[in-house]
Parts: sequence; structure tokens; C-alpha cells
Amino acid sequence: MNRSNRIRAEVVELLQPATLLIVWGDGHESLFPHRSLRESCECAACVDEWSREPILDPDALPADLHCTGFERTGRYGLNLTFSDGHGTGIWSLDRLRDSCRCPECEGSRS
Ligand SMILES: [Zn+2]
Ligand SMILES: [Zn+2]
Repeated sequence: MNRSNRIRAEVVELLQPATLLIVWGDGHESLFPHRSLRESCECAACVDEWSREPILDPDALPADLHCTGFERTGRYGLNLTFSDGHGTGIWSLDRLRDSCRCPECEGSRS
């Protein structure tokens, strides 16, 4: 499989309710719930840089949390902004593709 196609995002779109759609260079489609993205944020405000201990308390996030915008950073990164005002996290497309939870990806992982 061509690795650069696999982690190239052709389409990035915010869908209702609170879902992020990514269509990859190889035609695969991934859907990510905004909350799970927010909870997996690895920025310095959410995860301790040195100990890698989580700082973010998922229970403290608002129930109606959703993604309000995104920006591509470089070729392989996505910066997401959330309704709780958080906007410093960058998700690498590599990591997003690896965390796709569709039956096909889950199946190939187990
Ligand atoms: Zn963060
Ligand atoms: Zn998938």
C-alpha cells in the first residue's frame, strides 16, 4: 500500500452531530467523534510533556463539546479548535488514520 496516499487527507469536513470526516488519499473514509479527538489531544495543556501523564479530565469537558474549526498544519497535521476554547492541539494524520475505528480498520488491527 502506498503510505503517502494512506495518510494524505483529500477531504476534511466537520459533520453534524460532532463528527469529523476525513477522506484519505487511498479512498478510505474515517469518522471521528469530536469528543474522542478532544480527549486524545496530546498538547502540552492536556498531557504533561515530561511524564506523559494526562492533565485533561474528560469528565470536565462540556456535554455539548464539539469541534468548531480546523486548519491544516504542514502536509501531515491538523490543528483542531473546540467549543471549550481549546485550540492548541495538533493531530498528525498518521495518528488519525491509525485511530480510525471503522470495522475494516479495527479488523486489520486485531
Ligand atoms: Zn490539548
Ligand atoms: Zn477505517
